[in-house]
Amino acid sequence: MAKYKKIKVPKTGTKITVEKDKIVVPDDPIIPFIEGDGIGPDIWKATQMVLDAAVEKAYKGTKKIIWMEIFAGDKAVKVYGKNQWLPKETVQAIKDYVVAIKGPLTTPIGGGIRSLNVTLRQKLDLFACVRPVKYYPGTPSPVKRPQDLNVVIFRENTEDVYAGIEFKANTKAAKELIELLSTKYKKHIRSGSGIGIKPISKFGTERLVKKAIEYAIEYGRKSVTLVHKGNIMKFTEGAFKDWGYQAAKKYFPNKIVTEADLWDKYDGKLPEGKILIKDRIADSIFQQVLLRPTEYEILATPNLNGDFLSDACAAQVGGLGIAPGSNMSYHYGLFEATHGTAPKYAGMDKVNPGSLILSGVMMLEYLGWKKAGTMVENSMKRTIKSKVVTYDFARQMKGAKKVKCSQFAKELVKNMK
Ligand code: NAD
Repeated sequence: MAKYKKIKVPKTGTKITVEKDKIVVPDDPIIPFIEGDGIGPDIWKATQMVLDAAVEKAYKGTKKIIWMEIFAGDKAVKVYGKNQWLPKETVQAIKDYVVAIKGPLTTPIGGGIRSLNVTLRQKLDLFACVRPVKYYPGTPSPVKRPQDLNVVIFRENTEDVYAGIEFKANTKAAKELIELLSTKYKKHIRSGSGIGIKPISKFGTERLVKKAIEYAIEYGRKSVTLVHKGNIMKFTEGAFKDWGYQAAKKYFPNKIVTEADLWDKYDGKLPEGKILIKDRIADSIFQQVLLRPTEYEILATPNLNGDFLSDACAAQVGGLGIAPGSNMSYHYGLFEATHGTAPKYAGMDKVNPGSLILSGVMMLEYLGWKKAGTMVENSMKRTIKSKVVTYDFARQMKGAKKVKCSQFAKELVKNMK
């Protein structure tokens, strides 16, 4: 048993382990949680109540999550002291217990950390940011048929702009790079430019695309689309597309059909049980998800495309208030709300806990506790349809009953069947 300074390991409960490349989940898993800053404590309390109730209802006491608090953000500074935004033992605890869930965290100003979320992703090598986007009937949406969009975005999390390799304009390093590119490679960059490096590797692409296809197989989804800007950036974005297709053929030769083969060999009809692998240029996919949403299921993207696309898709079905997410490595899973800390609403018991609760549903599914996950999801559908919602939805819905964050959670528990 690992020894922590401030984390209190519960007296009961069992660790999730990884065996033969799979997570092994006991009936009483210890799951670390980070409450989060700002609205974090409110939405976390609501989430915990809903998840516990669903597990209890689904398994009648034979399964139970044993929660263990770990610290990051403002609360970590309170517990560990100055500048301790992300204590080492927090990262260690997630490694030790494999699966964790977190509320939003403030990005500290100063203290040498760019963003706690980015740091967590890097330290745990959480290379896939997974964001399912689908419509819950009744949710206010800006489009006519929001129900047509049902995608899961797999966004690469460690390369591209997230590698964070940048050089400020007019620094020695920036000048040296401009000089080197000019003299050695005959590539001319205007002097006084800032420089950013955009690395995309075969290794990084393969593992992301492989994860996306594995997900498509597990959840019976019919297509995986590689989203890239390869027409312009051939050796990064274009390579992402090429390596993506190669990975699909290498790891899943009997499961996939490429779009080219679909027409050449199958007359445009996807054979039963196969997954279609296609690709789309990044700018075009923004039109496609609006104009032909039913043609897309899983979208695998390099970092920056995925960043834009996941927020745009979330907006299409009603916004970040109910958009869930997770960050995954080969086995670690860190499930999180996709919005920020909304500081002006902190402690008001007001905001929508939907994003964190649905992230909890993703976590239950990852544990293999799908029955409990489905219960929460169905209850979310019923509750939104009944128009009992938090302020953000209520103000856009006719005849809605506005409730507090905690009341919305109670309503979800009440509507659980
Ligand atoms: P934000 O998402 O915190 O809030 C923007 C606005 O969105 C809020 O004012 C509110 O009107 C609305 N909103 C957000 N969550 C809501 C909810 N659950 N229910 C209803 N309305 C909601 O974005 P911001 O103001 O740009 O960022 C605030 C802080 O959060 C910053 O420190 C930022 O770095 C951090 N942040 C953290 C994460 C994360 O931890 N994953 C993500 C984004 C931003």
